[in-house]
Amino acid sequence: MKLLDCHNHTAEWSDGRQSIEQVVEKARLEGVRVGLADHAGLGEYLNSNDRLLAYADFLTQYPVARGLEMDLGRSFIVQPQTREKFDYMIGSVHGMEVEGVRLSFSHLISWTKGQMPDYNPLLQIKNLETFFKTHLTLLEKEYSAQKYDILGHPTMLPPLALGKSEDVFPEWWEDQLLTLLIKNGVALEISNRWLTPYDRLMKKGVEAGVKFSLGSDGHETPKTCVLDYPKEMISKFGVEQSRVFDISRAIEAA
Ligand SMILES: [Zn+2]
Ligand SMILES: [Zn+2]
Repeated sequence: MKLLDCHNHTAEWSDGRQSIEQVVEKARLEGVRVGLADHAGLGEYLNSNDRLLAYADFLTQYPVARGLEMDLGRSFIVQPQTREKFDYMIGSVHGMEVEGVRLSFSHLISWTKGQMPDYNPLLQIKNLETFFKTHLTLLEKEYSAQKYDILGHPTMLPPLALGKSEDVFPEWWEDQLLTLLIKNGVALEISNRWLTPYDRLMKKGVEAGVKFSLGSDGHETPKTCVLDYPKEMISKFGVEQSRVFDISRAIEAA
């Protein structure tokens, strides 16, 4: 069976720069099955159950899996009758309140695009240990509020800009993160856009028995449904098919 790319965005419903027709066509060209997961959260267009229902209804017209990407920290409760219209919920961190100050990760995104070469996250974060503890506390709080299926781009966090991930991301954070994901039945996303997880976290994830989901996090058609990095990681670390998050009814694009 073709791989399922769970994570794509459209212009209709969030910050993609493509129509859903373009996403479906790109999936066909790339030979993958596709899921949509537009942004939801208090700061997004999809900020209520009513709008999520409209989004789910829209998605039923297309041969796609139905997901959403909730902004952790600015989430809202998805009611059961809304949730049942969706195949899965991705929860991702795009900003965090650390010691009372809200940090946006938009600087990090600019840095990855080469638009902010002298970005120094430590000016924002101050203390890595506090930052990573706060990250885990946020996930714990969100997972106790409602069920998530996937943690989106797990290391898209400002420390990413500080150097090689193995040197920057603490091992205690990796271990506690994996324990938290397994306890709550949440899959770790392998993101083609963010090239995450890095090797050590992948290896530990496989050993710990976590599930993995695959995502291009496509916003623009050229990068949409491209799964080179996830495929490389799956083969490098021998991830079995049964460990890859899938939605059996996700339809193959014609
Ligand atoms: Zn995201
Ligand atoms: Zn996304």
